[in-house]
Amino acid sequence: MKNQLIIYDSLKRKKVPFRPLHSPHVGLYVCGPTVYGDPHLGHARMGITFDLVFRYLMHLGFKVRYVRNITDVGHLESDADAGEDKIGKKARLEELEPMEVVQQYTNSYHRDMRQLNILEPSIEPLASGHIIEQQQFIDKIIKNKLAYEVNGSVYFDVDKYNETYQYGILSGRNIDELKSQSRDLDGQDEKKNPYDFALWKKASPEHLMKWPSLWGNGFPGWHLECSTMSTKYLGEEFDIHGGGMDLLFPHHECEIAQSTAVHGKSSVRYWMHNNMITLNGQKMGRSLGNAVTLEEFFTGQHKLLDQAYSPMTIRFFMLQAHYRGTLDFTNKALQASEKGLERLFRGIQELSHLKPSNTSSLDVQRLERSCYEALNDDFNTPILISHLFDGIKDIFSLSEGRQTISGADLDQLKKLYDIFVIEIMGLQPEQKETHEQLTSELIEAILNVRMQAKARNDFETSDRIRDALNTLGIEIKDGKNGYEWAFRKK
Ligand code: ZN
Repeated sequence: MKNQLIIYDSLKRKKVPFRPLHSPHVGLYVCGPTVYGDPHLGHARMGITFDLVFRYLMHLGFKVRYVRNITDVGHLESDADAGEDKIGKKARLEELEPMEVVQQYTNSYHRDMRQLNILEPSIEPLASGHIIEQQQFIDKIIKNKLAYEVNGSVYFDVDKYNETYQYGILSGRNIDELKSQSRDLDGQDEKKNPYDFALWKKASPEHLMKWPSLWGNGFPGWHLECSTMSTKYLGEEFDIHGGGMDLLFPHHECEIAQSTAVHGKSSVRYWMHNNMITLNGQKMGRSLGNAVTLEEFFTGQHKLLDQAYSPMTIRFFMLQAHYRGTLDFTNKALQASEKGLERLFRGIQELSHLKPSNTSSLDVQRLERSCYEALNDDFNTPILISHLFDGIKDIFSLSEGRQTISGADLDQLKKLYDIFVIEIMGLQPEQKETHEQLTSELIEAILNVRMQAKARNDFETSDRIRDALNTLGIEIKDGKNGYEWAFRKK
C-alpha cells in the first residue's frame, strides 16, 4: 500500500509512480511567498496543497526535507525583468526599511499559515540570505557560456542554451513562439533577445536593496534564488518541486534552464502545480478590488463576505477540491463546507460513544483501503473525503443501533479517522469561542463523568451531579443509550 503513490508530473504531463532518489529520504522544494502584502487565498491554497503532500509522505514513512523559501528580493513588478522591486516599492511608499516590510509580512504569513494548521517547513531560507551563493551560481553559468554580461547586468542566453537543451519543456512554449510574442523594445533593451532573463540586475543609485558583485552593485534576478537554494539544501537532483500554476512560466521554466546550465541536467524529478482560485467566478487581484486577505476571511471583515469563515472551514473547503482543479470561492460554497466539517467532527465525536458488539456489519478494512487508494492517486482528497463521509453515515447508523461493530473494528475505525482527518488532512475540531458553546461542552463533560460513576455503581456521585445540575436549571433524562439534557423551560 505504501509504495503505490502516483503523482501527476506537470513536466511529463501524466501520472507517474513516485520513486524517490534516495528513499526513504525525500527532498521537497516549494516556492514560498514574496513578502510584500498580507497573505490571501492563493497563499493558503499553495500552503495547504503542499502541507498535505508533506504530511502524507511523512505518514508513509518517508523522511522529508521540506524547503519553502521566502522571496524578499529580486521579484520585480513585471515578470519581464522590468518595474520596481515589489518589496522595495512597498518600503518606499510606506517609508520603511525594506527588511521591516519583509519582517512584517513574513510574520503575517506565518500567523495565517499557523491558523490554517500548516506545518512549518524543515528549512525556510531567505533569498537575501543567499546572495553569495547566487553570485557563485551565476559565475558557473557564465563559465558554461550560457550567460552574458552587459553594462553591469547578467542575462541568461536562451538561444545559446537552446542549442544543447530545450527551453520551454515545462510550459510547452518554444523559442519561435516566444520570438513572435515579444515586442522589440525600440532597441532600448540591452538583452540579446527579449526572452533572455536577468540573473543579476545592475542597481540604479536610488535602488534600496543592492549588493556588491563582480559586475558592480546590483541584485539577483527572481528565478535564481530557487535554483540556488534548492541545490544548496536538497542537492543537484531532488524529488519534488512545487508551486502555484502561475509560477510555471516564466519562473519555473527559468529555474529549469538555470539548474540545467549548471548541473547539466534538470534537477527536479517531479513537478507539482496547484491550480488557481477564483472568487465569485472572477480572477482575484488587487486592481479588481476582490483581493480578500486570509485575515479578512477569518474575521468576516470584507464587503464580499456574508460572515466570518474559520481557518478550518477554509482548509476543508480547499481539500474538498483536487489541487489540480480550479476552485471558486463563494459564500454559499463556504457555508456548505462549514456544515460538512461540522458533520464530520460530529461523526468523529459519536465514535467515542459507540459500544462494541460481538459482530460487525461494517467493512472497516475496505474503507481504509479506499482512503489510501484515493490519496495514492495523486493526493485525491475529494475522493478521500467522500469515503470518510460514507463512514460517517455508518457511524450514525451504528449509534442508532441499525448496525453493529466489533471492538477490534471500532478501534480501527477510530484510528482511521485520526490518521486521515487529523494527521494527514490536518483538520482540527473548531475552537469553541462563544460562551454558549463552551457551556454545552462543559455540561457534556460533567455528564460523561456522571455516566462513568453510574457504570461503576457509584450512584451517590451520579445523583449528586444530577442534583447540582438541576439546581442550575439543567434537566437530565436518562435513557437506554445514555442521557439527554436540556435547559429547563422558564
Ligand atoms: Zn521559485
